[in-house]
Amino acid sequence: MADRPRIVGIDLGTTNTLVASVRNRIPKIVPTDRGNLILPSVVALSSKGDLLVGGVAKDQMVTNPRNTLWGTKRLIGRKYHSKSVEDLRGAFPYDIVEGPGGDAAVMMGGKLYSLPQVSSFVLSQLKTIAEQFLGGPIDAAVISVPAYYNDNQRQAVKEAGRLAGFDVKRIVNEPTAAALAYGFNRGLDQKILVYDLGGGTFDVSVLHLSGNVFEVLATGGDSFLGGADFDNRIMEYVLERFREEAKIDLAENTIALQRIKNAAEAAKIDLTLIPNVVIDLPFIDERKGKPLDLRIPLTREFLNSLTGDLVDRTFEICDRVLAEKGIARSEIDEIILVGGQSRMPLVQQKIQAHFGKPPRKGVHPDECVALGAALLGDSLGSIDAVTLLDALSMPIGYALPNGRVKRIIEKNSLIPMVKSFRLPPPKEPSAQFIELDIFQGDSDLMVDNEYLGTVRVPSAAAGRKIDFRLTEECLLQVEVEEASGVPRKVDLATRDTPEQLKKALQEVVIKRENQPVASSSGTSDDRGLFSSIKSIFRRG
Ligand code: AMP
Repeated sequence: MADRPRIVGIDLGTTNTLVASVRNRIPKIVPTDRGNLILPSVVALSSKGDLLVGGVAKDQMVTNPRNTLWGTKRLIGRKYHSKSVEDLRGAFPYDIVEGPGGDAAVMMGGKLYSLPQVSSFVLSQLKTIAEQFLGGPIDAAVISVPAYYNDNQRQAVKEAGRLAGFDVKRIVNEPTAAALAYGFNRGLDQKILVYDLGGGTFDVSVLHLSGNVFEVLATGGDSFLGGADFDNRIMEYVLERFREEAKIDLAENTIALQRIKNAAEAAKIDLTLIPNVVIDLPFIDERKGKPLDLRIPLTREFLNSLTGDLVDRTFEICDRVLAEKGIARSEIDEIILVGGQSRMPLVQQKIQAHFGKPPRKGVHPDECVALGAALLGDSLGSIDAVTLLDALSMPIGYALPNGRVKRIIEKNSLIPMVKSFRLPPPKEPSAQFIELDIFQGDSDLMVDNEYLGTVRVPSAAAGRKIDFRLTEECLLQVEVEEASGVPRKVDLATRDTPEQLKKALQEVVIKRENQPVASSSGTSDDRGLFSSIKSIFRRG
């Protein structure tokens, strides 16, 4: 068929993954072989050694937790020794280990897998599903990523797509994709706010839509605020009630905990539709050989009181993002909801109260990102192509010898863009090379940011022009002017933290440790630096 799509849009989510394609200009979600529109982002190894992906993998989460990989979207593109992975260790029942090049990796069935590999299992399953449904090969994809993903994470998702056999035409930010699903070809002139409350993260973006020009004005979020926090509140409550009533603490009983976690989430989702539920878990434990059941009622009202502060936190973030750009709440024409947790009635009520208008109905919170990614894929290279002007979610800079970061590209800078500056002299006058260790993150301290790579050029290049270029996909490219004045692309050494950098960080630690505590002029920032460096090297 002539109009058979050859490109798909993929929303590679923390909890679920969706694939969409466009036919006759209409984007649609491709159903999975189980007839669902979503594929759980779960990969597992069965007890027989079979690789499982999606629903079948999720089904064995409780019985085989150590060989069931979920939530890996939080780990992909991260260094094992980074603060973010450090914070997440222990949050998953499977083992997170150090992989090649210092990247975080995971263990399944006693074998090490890189995180792009894990995601590629999910993506190739989707590829098969899409090919069967659409009746022919699909070679290309547009894949969405959270707006706050740094360069490493974007590269890792691209790599996952490649491993799955896709030509990844574009990496697009999730809120931008959601905005596309809402506004593509509608000739709008509006400011919209995309409120994305998913399973693990909250993400907010403000965009200006003008015809098919989608310009991100500001973006922000919290990568540790999402549906799972709502589930945890219910879990804590259930554990406490059971402790009170049965005088048994289930906090150390992993299987019971997993069952309560699943039941808590199910109860939360049911409470979106109905006002009362009962969490009912037969035989949760035993006493003197007799089974003990757990039966705890929960009302929507009570859930609201357990979680109201979490919803309020999202508005603090919205207000901060708007304030950064001097945009008043009243200037927002529409609020688009993304992410399963945004379905909670309390979220919608509080949005109405906060912004003075209800969120937009008609944009499906689970599907809009994949639909938007598919629309973008379909429009690539066509005459009425969309123009995406995105904003950088976290600043990029290079490390100074004192452990601080010299910012080169500021947060919310419009991308694509290029920023030029002069190469500083080498750290030591006699050094053969100038090395710029590049970091991305909101902190002024390099150790709290994500290491992207090192630019290494001969010392003779000092004073020459260097360009930091951010592509449409928000990927960083670096060019240094040669003696002849011709710019030359420099590959970042990103595979491992260079020895020199480790040494520099260690020196800061030693210097700090030798400082008498009482006379320390350390600010709270400094203390943060000190503890973060220690945590980096604890296992180093
Ligand atoms: P996402 O990452 O967008 O797939 O969002 C998944 C999160 O949304 C999970 O924490 C789900 O428990 C939550 N969720 C899904 N559906 C609902 C619903 N109807 N009401 C409340 N939360 C939901």
